[in-house]
Amino acid sequence: MKIIMLGAPGAGKGTQAKMIAEKYSIPHISTGDIFRANIKNGTQLGMEAKKYMDQGLLVPDELTVKILLDRVAQADCAGGYVLDGFPRTIPQAKVLDHALEEIGDKIDFAINVDVPDENIIKRMGGRRACLSCGATYHIEHIPPKKEGICDSCGKELVLRDDDKPETVKNRLDVYHQQTQPLIDFYQAKGILKTVDGTVDMKDVFAAITAILD
Ligand code: ADP
Ligand code: AMP
Repeated sequence: MKIIMLGAPGAGKGTQAKMIAEKYSIPHISTGDIFRANIKNGTQLGMEAKKYMDQGLLVPDELTVKILLDRVAQADCAGGYVLDGFPRTIPQAKVLDHALEEIGDKIDFAINVDVPDENIIKRMGGRRACLSCGATYHIEHIPPKKEGICDSCGKELVLRDDDKPETVKNRLDVYHQQTQPLIDFYQAKGILKTVDGTVDMKDVFAAITAILD
């Protein structure tokens, strides 16, 4: 099963994608996590991506598409995957479609996690991320067992640079201009499914599994 997660930054795509990956035993692929791992390791790709990420802008398609296509070509993706944060532009979606068509394959579901902008701004200030293992928490809704420490790997949790209020505003503008058109794109293909992302994460997940099962 090949799944795309759509939704504004902070809608809960990553939270749900991890739960989907576990339930259906498929890899969770987050382009944001791939970029953050590259930044942490000081790679050329990481340094280039950081220039855009820190401003709340999208990393150019030329850089993003290649890392995604390389990742989905790996052996663990043969049985499907859940993409989180890709595609974010129509050209990215078309490249992915084309690459899948070439191997006689296609995306099965595009799940749109719908959360209004007002809720997003509140959520992002409370998000805490583990830059070591990629786990995500929320100080009120999904707190770690010990404040400031990752439950999974014990490392320190941080407020991502791009989750600061001034950058969140830019990211939402970029989302509306460049990513939201994907909703119509996948609707036209007949694979779009929208779920209410404002409810408790368990209820969001129940709505998603009802679609996937
Ligand atoms: P995205 O991957 O779409 O950017 P995340 O999954 O990182 O979003 O979620 C953004 C923030 O909102 C995180 O702090 C996360 O813990 C929290 N969150 C996710 N789902 C919910 C939910 N259903 N209700 C409240 N908070 C949520
Ligand atoms: P995320 O972790 O999905 O919130 O992504 C964090 C940041 O990484 C985004 O704000 C972009 O700057 C960059 N990024 C992640 N995925 C993509 C993508 N598919 N296209 C362009 N930029 C991306």
